[in-house]
Amino acid sequence: MAETFIAIRKASPQPGAELAPMPLPDSLGPQEVLIQVDLAAICASDVHVYDWAPNVAASHLPLPVTMGHEFTGTVLQTGEAVKTLAAGDRISGETHLPCGECYQCQTGQQHRCQNLRLLGRQIDGCMAEYAILPEICARRIPSHFPVEQAALMEPLGVAVHAVDKAGVSGETVAILGCGAIASVRVKALRRGAQDCEYLLTLGRRYGLNREQLRSLVARKVAARAALRQLHEDDAAPVAFEALDPDRFAELREGIARLIEKARP
Ligand SMILES: [Zn+2]
Ligand SMILES: [Zn+2]
Repeated sequence: MAETFIAIRKASPQPGAELAPMPLPDSLGPQEVLIQVDLAAICASDVHVYDWAPNVAASHLPLPVTMGHEFTGTVLQTGEAVKTLAAGDRISGETHLPCGECYQCQTGQQHRCQNLRLLGRQIDGCMAEYAILPEICARRIPSHFPVEQAALMEPLGVAVHAVDKAGVSGETVAILGCGAIASVRVKALRRGAQDCEYLLTLGRRYGLNREQLRSLVARKVAARAALRQLHEDDAAPVAFEALDPDRFAELREGIARLIEKARP
């Protein structure tokens, strides 16, 4: 194996990123795993890091850092204390690294850890040929699992968690957005919701295909139309919002009003 590998690094607090060589470690820490990255997804939050958006600039990232947090790969090597993984295992990435010691971590709420660190933000991420990660950031998956889906397990987890928390069984639900999280949220909802209205459905109503809808969403037109339609139909007592916060501030306010209106 080469002694270095290529990674996409966020090196300075300004728009852009760079390809940089990174050293492969001589040895792993006891709970670390060396992963060969097979595929990394581009999340909207990665775009925010690349663009150095205001919310990222305000978050005091320790630079330089390797970007990326949604991925799949193959375990090449494990530290001596690693219990759940072995060389050759296929894995899907987990973005969140809890401290394991705070009150939340001790009471089964690691996702609310007071000292939570995120892959591609506070620790080196997955947009690289290799990733050296704590064991907890890699979950074993079946060997036959499609690679494109395996790279999106983290956003799937976000979507399923939100749907489970909302308790929407039997409800009509609006999902606003058509990125990865909105799309998998639709899948998650179909387990329990009676009807599922979302932007793509509205797009079909207006005779638009997915690509046309995407370009319209970029110009906010479809998003406004969707919101108006929801108001007129009084159709959706529950709305999930999965939109870019910087680009859809107006729509988010509209959704807040919609939810207020729907409250009994
Ligand atoms: Zn993400
Ligand atoms: Zn913690």
